[in-house]
Amino acid sequence: MEISERVSNIQPSATLALSGKAKAMKAQGIDVLNLSIGQPDFNTPKHIGQAAIKAIESGKVDFYTAAVGIEPLRKAIADKENADHGTDFTADNVVVMNGAKMTLYALGQALFDEGDEVLIPLPYWVTYGEQVKLAGAKPVFVKPAAGRLTVVPEELEAARTPKTKAMILNTPNNPSGAVYTREQLQAIGDWAVEHDVIVIADDIYGKLVYNGTKFVSLLDLSPAIRKQTILVNGMSKTYSMTGWRVGYAIADEQVVKGLKTFLSHAAGNMAAVSQYAALAAVTGDQTCVEEMRATYEERINTLYPLLNEIPGFKLDVKPAGAFYAFPDVSEAVKLAGFASTDEFVSALLDEAHVAVVPGAAFGMDDHVRISYATSMDVLKEAVQRIQAFMADHQ
Ligand code: PLP
Repeated sequence: MEISERVSNIQPSATLALSGKAKAMKAQGIDVLNLSIGQPDFNTPKHIGQAAIKAIESGKVDFYTAAVGIEPLRKAIADKENADHGTDFTADNVVVMNGAKMTLYALGQALFDEGDEVLIPLPYWVTYGEQVKLAGAKPVFVKPAAGRLTVVPEELEAARTPKTKAMILNTPNNPSGAVYTREQLQAIGDWAVEHDVIVIADDIYGKLVYNGTKFVSLLDLSPAIRKQTILVNGMSKTYSMTGWRVGYAIADEQVVKGLKTFLSHAAGNMAAVSQYAALAAVTGDQTCVEEMRATYEERINTLYPLLNEIPGFKLDVKPAGAFYAFPDVSEAVKLAGFASTDEFVSALLDEAHVAVVPGAAFGMDDHVRISYATSMDVLKEAVQRIQAFMADHQ
């Protein structure tokens, strides 16, 4: 059977493909160190699962909920974001959906028309561009000047046309771990207000910042910038809940109405049991968040100098958030005699059994993404294997 042009025109997720290959090798008994994974390596904190069990036992999860999610959860999310950003959202501004991924997809469907353009700074999360295409709009990628992994308004302005409707801004960033400063965000926010560009702020890694870095959201800035912003967030990274699939958007009344209409036909509601788990996550003890954050911090502090010692690996700025490092490996690829980063990554997996993701998946060919959502032992062993691989290939 022939599939649609719409779907034929998008690429399957490169990160999922790679971790799929690593998993398949593992299943064959090969000792693969998988640094390609984009999810926390902790189990969901116990109290969250227990709240879900309680919700099941009390019969709360047996029926459809409102398409936008249960009221207590939407209220708890609004309260949490208000506490974080000094905003005054209510439950009516919140729509909960099947992960931030589905949230971004639904926003694309609710906001974009055929021919609209959406600015996406490099390096980007693999999914943004494909979702924009699925909405019939056109992704326009914006490359920062060499040596920077964050964009500035002049670069956005050079890409803007009368068709530009929105941009997607992700800080802390997947894949680079870069965190935009208040000044950088203020400049981008002011530019967006001036040109009436909607900013979809993907703050999913906002709680994962290290070594004193302060996370600033567009919601922390002026009322005008807030008005221009739609927040996307979720439970996956903060609470190690990727499998539960809980994400949300916070937006104005009109966008909420659009999302609601779209969801009423596309999804109904997200799983009720996950909504009760999320309610426990947001309203419960937050110690677990700090514990996980501190563990990532320790890992990047150990990993950063080790990565820079690998011949040809260049990581000028220490990643300040999320759980990825994104070294420039162009020198390493040359030193090891490969024609491309893809070939280098492929050989690294086949020979050293270390899985990382080639930068092309994020719009930057010269880099690889290394996830440190894995144990310190695995990270140290992986660096040793990459060192040995480089020694073998010189
Ligand atoms: N946004 C970014 C930048 C991500 O890295 C991810 C997951 O990898 C998501 C959104 C989606 O998260 P989820 O759908 O699990 O909420």
